[in-house]
Amino acid sequence: MIGRRARLALAALAAFTAACGDSTSPESRQLRVTVDPELRARAGEQLDRPIRIEVVDASGVGLADVPVTLRVLEGGGTVDRPNRVTDARGLIELRAWTMGERPGTNRISVEVEGLEPAIATVQAGAGPAARLEPLGTIPARASVATSLTTLPQVRVTDRFNNPISGARVRYTASGGGTVTDTVLVSNAEGLTRQTAWRLGTLAGPQTLRVSVEGAPDLLMSIQADPGPPSRLTWDTPQNQGVEVGLFVVHSPTARVTDQHGNPIAGVPITFRVESGGGRLEGIAERTDSDGRVRVQRWYLGSQPGPNSVSASGTGFTSIVLTARALATNAPLEGRYFTVAALHVNQGSQSSAGDIPLVAGRAGVLRVFVQASEAGAPAPEIEVRVFGGGTLLETRRIAPPSSETPTSVSADLTTPSWNLNVPANWVTAGLAAEVVVDPQGLVGVTTRRVARYPIEGLPTPMNVVSTPTFRVRFMPLRDQASGQQGDIHALNLDGFTAGARRVLPIGALEVTLAPAFTTDLLTSEGRVQTVLGELQAACRASSFQNQFFHGIFPAASVEGLPYYGVAFLTNSPSSTCSVAQSWDRLPQAAYTVAHELGHNLGRPHAPCGNPAQVDPSFPYGNARLGTAGWDTVEQVMRSPSQYFDMMSYCNPEWISDYNFRQIVDWRRRTPGSSPAMAEGAPGPGVLIWGGVTGSSAYLEPAFPVTAAPFVPSGGGSHRLTGFSASGEQLFRFEFDPQMVADAPSRERHFAFVVPVSDATALARIELETPTGDVALRSRSSVVSQGAPPVSPGVVLSGPPEARTLAWNPVDFPLAVLRDRVSQEIVGFGRSGRLTLDASVEVTLSDGIRGWRVTTGGLVEP
Ligand SMILES: [Zn+2]
Repeated sequence: MIGRRARLALAALAAFTAACGDSTSPESRQLRVTVDPELRARAGEQLDRPIRIEVVDASGVGLADVPVTLRVLEGGGTVDRPNRVTDARGLIELRAWTMGERPGTNRISVEVEGLEPAIATVQAGAGPAARLEPLGTIPARASVATSLTTLPQVRVTDRFNNPISGARVRYTASGGGTVTDTVLVSNAEGLTRQTAWRLGTLAGPQTLRVSVEGAPDLLMSIQADPGPPSRLTWDTPQNQGVEVGLFVVHSPTARVTDQHGNPIAGVPITFRVESGGGRLEGIAERTDSDGRVRVQRWYLGSQPGPNSVSASGTGFTSIVLTARALATNAPLEGRYFTVAALHVNQGSQSSAGDIPLVAGRAGVLRVFVQASEAGAPAPEIEVRVFGGGTLLETRRIAPPSSETPTSVSADLTTPSWNLNVPANWVTAGLAAEVVVDPQGLVGVTTRRVARYPIEGLPTPMNVVSTPTFRVRFMPLRDQASGQQGDIHALNLDGFTAGARRVLPIGALEVTLAPAFTTDLLTSEGRVQTVLGELQAACRASSFQNQFFHGIFPAASVEGLPYYGVAFLTNSPSSTCSVAQSWDRLPQAAYTVAHELGHNLGRPHAPCGNPAQVDPSFPYGNARLGTAGWDTVEQVMRSPSQYFDMMSYCNPEWISDYNFRQIVDWRRRTPGSSPAMAEGAPGPGVLIWGGVTGSSAYLEPAFPVTAAPFVPSGGGSHRLTGFSASGEQLFRFEFDPQMVADAPSRERHFAFVVPVSDATALARIELETPTGDVALRSRSSVVSQGAPPVSPGVVLSGPPEARTLAWNPVDFPLAVLRDRVSQEIVGFGRSGRLTLDASVEVTLSDGIRGWRVTTGGLVEP
């Protein structure tokens, strides 16, 4: 705003009294118009306070509702609502009188019928400042640090171009420039005149800003040009060292500026080798827009010692750049590259890169290139891969980042130069060598160490052979409801998708076995005891080198506190380490991997509060430790985002710790996985049972033709077999297998005891370290030589859907076998089964078996 004094509006005080006639006249009214002496008026603006218009009677009382007409006489302004009536007080307060666009006198006539009109007069000044206008122009360019003395005047006006005098106008110069007067006051014509503007020393656009309150700033711009060329300098460090014959890291670069340091383009400069016998390549002739002129390569001479190169140009003193040619065996200094680490990651790998490789498994070759100093550009590398001394592949690999790292982080998240390694490369004799920056594009002080190995032939990597990993899936079928795990030929791969990625397995063989029928699926407390049934089926099987893995229908065991359960195997040579998982894909993929992890000897990793945590797990919260590699997606798995798959947290990957443990575990399993059962199949009794908490139980034994399996290593539990006369037929000690993921501490065992005279076995006794004893004898129906046919057994219906009913007290277990393969395909305990034609049934009387035939029970 302009100062109060400046906008003094010269308002005229006018008090008009229009009266008519005498007191006898019927017209005794009066019209009074009062203009406040403080009133200020400005061109184009309404009044800042009202004019009072009153109509009163003879005694001075205001008359309401008297029509009043307002008519503009002079000044060109306008009145809002010219026809009005007085209010209850006989009053009109007039503010809405807009002055004309020019400063000067504004007048209106106030008219009431029957009375003499009154005239109101105000003097309007100029309006508020609205514009700054230069009268003339400035030059488009001038040299830095020079003064402009013929600057245009600047006029201050209101919005109708009425000049405003007395306005304070501010001048501000950019870029270090200065003006003579930073504030000027406008004269009567609204004008200010600045005497000089001295430009700053920085080349480029500079501006003079003119401002006044109420108006947009006025900017006057000029291009400040550099002064005359005055300096030639090196923009390259002196005395760089580099091996003889190599080019220096920082290429010779000269720079031309004026005396203020502004770059000057287009100046011709000449370079010349002065000493040392080197050579120059790629020489620019003139300075660029940044004032620089560069030699792309300065190769030093072939002898150790000082080298120099000069730069010269007209009007400049020549300048000299020196460098040192170093002997080829000189100590490492300056910028150079090394291969800090090189290893193959097949899912995980340790910081030291010492987890052995699994033959026949794909992975990624990671080459960690390291620069001796920060800021080095990242070069490409050349990798040569050898198999048993034969070159398999030569490949150039682009850098993973723009700068070369100067260290490798312990978690291996540092970017590496990667090459996918197909499964068939990973055999004994796999080796790789690397040349960093094979084209020599990045300047370094030495290339001596920019290779792997630095000298000699590459050392073959540690590749180990592991047996084919064989998994035998079977849907678990609930005998009562007929529901079974949703696994079939079309979704089979989904169940191994997790294991394939995270477990160190090469060759994988997956079998889908017939459904396995059980009575134990429906109740929560019994589901994990299906593991015992699967283990018994495995013991009697000819597929003991396969991991039996039951898939149960999640729908029939809703609300279980786990999604899978498995034996926590304690030795790589253990056989019949079985597991079961739910059937919900895709989640089940990692459930299967987790349960197989238990079968491969892995306890839990500490996240999500599982039982049986591995006390040696090295990372808090079950973190991975190092970056993983997904051989399927071909991406890294971040150690800060994933959890070890042996924990209960997700998303899951595998830590380098567990990956190494499983590689080691599998290396210790000779021949097959799991170990083949020893011995040829023969007649025996399958003795099985479990221990839950402190109580032990024996399942009904039954006859099998299978490889004997009797433990010889001792243990805290003891099984003894007796004849009817009390003679001891066998006796051995053992430790049952721990179940992981079960809500209660639970262990199981299943043995095949060879018996020469099966009929002799009459009683089995299990002793536990807590003193608990379990017994199993033949049921009373048969133990005292009773006839073999139990009246309780009824087989009815057509062959393809027969119903078997029996007395489960006398025959506590039905063993279901495939009629052709003789593999066990389920157990029944309820006294009722529906069978199809492919299944045959043996009933256990507690110790021995009775084959169910259409003709009745037959003791084999
Ligand atoms: Zn588990």
